[in-house]
Amino acid sequence: MDKLLSVVVSVYNEELALREYYAETTEVLRGLVGTWDYELLFINDGSTDGSAAILKKLAEEDRKVKIVSFSRNFGHEAAMIAGIDYAKGDGIICMDADLQHPPECIPQIVGKLEEGYEVITMVRMHNRTAGVLKNITSSAFYALINRLSDVQFDANASDFFAVGREAADILRKNYREKVRFLRGYVQSIGFARATIPYEAKPRFAGESKYSIHKLFTFAVNTLLCFSDLPLRLGIYAGIVAALFGIIVMVYTIYTWARYGAPSGYATIVVLISFMFAMLFVIVGIIGEYIAILFAELKDRPVYIVADTENIEKR
Ligand code: UDP
Ligand code: MG
Repeated sequence: MDKLLSVVVSVYNEELALREYYAETTEVLRGLVGTWDYELLFINDGSTDGSAAILKKLAEEDRKVKIVSFSRNFGHEAAMIAGIDYAKGDGIICMDADLQHPPECIPQIVGKLEEGYEVITMVRMHNRTAGVLKNITSSAFYALINRLSDVQFDANASDFFAVGREAADILRKNYREKVRFLRGYVQSIGFARATIPYEAKPRFAGESKYSIHKLFTFAVNTLLCFSDLPLRLGIYAGIVAALFGIIVMVYTIYTWARYGAPSGYATIVVLISFMFAMLFVIVGIIGEYIAILFAELKDRPVYIVADTENIEKR
């Protein structure tokens, strides 16, 4: 019996790239038949362009094409999570539909799966596709998170990765957080891990859907999810403030003893502004954690499936 390979592709308004993606990927996947059978699982993340129609057509022509359509846009990560949930394969590869993740890498990944690796992360060699600013902020972010968190993240790991059956089961059962960082989970669950370098290509067509705002939210949430250190900031700030207070007190007593009446309107204003600034920042950080707690407590679905194609109804 052939083993089954599931290729999970998240699609959000990719009408310009889909056909090309399908053609290239199918060609590579057909080359594997004999040892590995495959399914090509597209997650339509609430596309508003012609993507749905193109996918439907592909699924009619090719039974190996499977579609899970969301009721609205839930985001790239939700799409990958849904893909892992629905995939039936012994190995699951997650990739983008814009051909930035080259399908030619698939045989290499399959090779690693055969060697028994459970988690295979694809590492970008150089990212010429992203701007200078994006590269700088991205390395700064990884430097920070690696300092603050127990888990070590690979700065160049991408959303291009593969997991074996065991790792996939863990992701399905135990990593259902609402505020999350899927790439981080994949890197933190352990098992036999391999990395494969690859060259990210420019987007085949269309535009990146990640705005600066989205990336910022993403970075903040990841920091909060993988580190408790910001919460402890309050304690550290308190200690600093206390030391500061003692110094000012000694100084005040000294001036009072020497010159009589203590003065220092300016000092008071500066101190109060400084202390309050610190206080509000810390309250804000606690607020962020409460927001995450609240999201988990509400336990809303990570995604909602409206329709599927070539998949038996569950
Ligand atoms: N994507 C998605 N939902 C979204 C945004 C993007 O499924 O809300 C998909 C998109 O179709 C693509 C992949 O996620 O296949 C990566 O998105 P994009 O290329 O815009 O990100 P970038 O490569 O610039 O990081
Ligand atoms: Mg892309």
